Amino acid sequence: MITENIIEAIDTTAQEQGQTIAYDELGKTQTYAQLKQYSDHLAAFIETLQISDDAPIMIYGGQQFEMIASFLGSVKSGHAYIPVDVNSADERLTDIVEIGKPAVVIAVDDLPVKIPDIPVINKAQLTKIFNTPNNFKMTHPVHDNDNFYIIFTSGTTGKPKGVQISHNNLLSFTNWVLGDEFNWQSESNVLAQPPYSFDLSVMDWVPTLVSKGTLKALPKTAADDFKTLFKVLPTLHLNKWVSTPSFADVVLLDPEFTQENHPDLDGFMFCGEVLTKTTAQKLLARFPKASIYNTYGPTEATVAVTGLKITKDTIENNDKMPIGYVKSDTKIIIQDSDGQAVPDGQPGEIVIVGPSVSQGYLNNPEKTSQAFTTVNGISAYKTGDLALRDKNGLLHYKGRSDFQIKLHGFRIELEEVAQQLQQSQWVDQAVAVPRYDADGKVKQLLAIIVAKNNNFEKPILLTTAIKNNLENIMMPYMVPSRFMYRDKMPLTPNGKIDLKGLIAEVNGHG
Ligand code: AMP
Repeated sequence: MITENIIEAIDTTAQEQGQTIAYDELGKTQTYAQLKQYSDHLAAFIETLQISDDAPIMIYGGQQFEMIASFLGSVKSGHAYIPVDVNSADERLTDIVEIGKPAVVIAVDDLPVKIPDIPVINKAQLTKIFNTPNNFKMTHPVHDNDNFYIIFTSGTTGKPKGVQISHNNLLSFTNWVLGDEFNWQSESNVLAQPPYSFDLSVMDWVPTLVSKGTLKALPKTAADDFKTLFKVLPTLHLNKWVSTPSFADVVLLDPEFTQENHPDLDGFMFCGEVLTKTTAQKLLARFPKASIYNTYGPTEATVAVTGLKITKDTIENNDKMPIGYVKSDTKIIIQDSDGQAVPDGQPGEIVIVGPSVSQGYLNNPEKTSQAFTTVNGISAYKTGDLALRDKNGLLHYKGRSDFQIKLHGFRIELEEVAQQLQQSQWVDQAVAVPRYDADGKVKQLLAIIVAKNNNFEKPILLTTAIKNNLENIMMPYMVPSRFMYRDKMPLTPNGKIDLKGLIAEVNGHG
C-alpha cells in the first residue's frame, strides 16, 4: 500500500487500534493513542506561540518516546524539527542554534548550555503540555515540499550543515522501504538504536510507525554496555534490525547472538558505511532465516537510495559487498570529474537524481550550490562517493573522492576534525588521518599535530591537555583515538599540508 501522508498514516493507526504499542523503551511502553494525544497537545501548544511558519523547532534528547512525540507535534503544527542528540558537544549545539535559527527549543533532556533569546520548553513543561487536554484540530501540518526535518552533518569548514528533508522526500523513501524489496511486514518489532540526530534512525522509526509496528528503543547507556546490551537484546523479540554494520559487529561479539535466541528476527537493514564481507558472512551463518540488506545513501537524499539483498552468492562473487540497485523513482548517474556520464564498468562520482533529494542546506546557499543541481528539472545531489555500475546495473562502492570518512557509522569530514583540533591552545598545526583495516573500513582516527612550545614532560600529558581543551568543542566520536606529534608537516608542491601523503603513510603505503 502506498502511503500518501506520514502524519495521517500514524494518526489512523491511533484511531483504529489505539492500544497497539508504538514505543517500548526497555519495558516502558507507550501506545499509538498516547502518541497521538501527546503530539496533538504539543502541536496545539506550539500554535499558541505564533512563531513564523518556516521557523524550525530544535528537539534535544536521547532515545525517549518524548522525542518521537515531539517530532510529530512539531510537524503537526506546521514546523520542521531539528533533532539534536543528548551526546552532542556544546559547540555543536550552539552552532546548530546559530545556523538553524530555531524559534523554539524542546529540551527532552536538560540542555548543557544556555540558549539566549529563544524560548526553551523543558522536560517538566513538556510533560505538562503532553498531559493537558485541548481540542487540537490539525489545520496546517507540514506537507508536500515543506521541510519535515533538518539533520545536521559534519561540514568541511568546521561548521555543521543542515540538510533539509521535505515531506515529499520522506514519502519517497518510506514507500520504497515498505515496498516489495525489503519484505518489511506491518506490525513488526523494530530496533531503534541510532541517535535521532543521525538519519539512519529515520529508517527505523518512520517505516515502523507508518506500518503499525513497535519501536524497540535501545538507549545509549544500554547499547554502550556490553553486558546490558547482550542481556537485553533477546528480550526485545525483534523482527527487524536497523543499524550500521559497525553496531552489528559489536553485537556479533556475543556468541549468543543467533537465530536460536532471536527466532523472529527476519531482516537486517544496513546503511551508512561499508558492509564488509566478514560481517555479512557471519550474520548469514548465524541467522539462516533472516535476509540481510545492504543499503546506501547520504542524508542529502533521505537516508538511502540503493539496496541489495546479500546472499551466499553475493558474498562468493564479490570482494566488497555491492551497494545494490537504485530505487525505481530515482536515477543514478556515474560521472567523471568533468561532469560527463561514464559508461558502465568505469568508476566515477555518484550523482543522485530523484524525489528524495533534498532542496539543499538550510541557510547555506554556497554549500548548496556546490553540491546540489537539477537534471531535467529534477533535484540532483553530487555525493562525492565513487562507484561503478556493472553490466547488470549493480552498483559497486569505490570510496570517496574527498576527505569525508565514516567511523563506526559516523560521518566525519577530516577538515572539520583538523579545524577543531586547531582550537586547542597547544596546537600549532593539526590534521586528522584515518587508518583502514583489511576490509577497507576505517578502524581508527589519528591526529597528527605540530604542537606549540610547551613544557609537558611526556606526549601523553600534552595529549590530555589538548583533549581537555577540546572537551566541549568536539563531538566525542570525532576525537582521534591516537595523537602523534611532529616538528613539521609534510607539504605538497603547492605548499599545502600533504594529507594524501600522510594517509598513505599511516596505512603503510608511504
Ligand atoms: P550519512 O549522510 O551520514 O548517511 O553518510 C553518507 C555517506 O556514508 C555516503 O555518502 C557514503 O560515503 C557512506 N555510505 C552510506 N552507505 C554506505 C554503504 N552501504 N556502503 C559504503 N558507504 C556507505
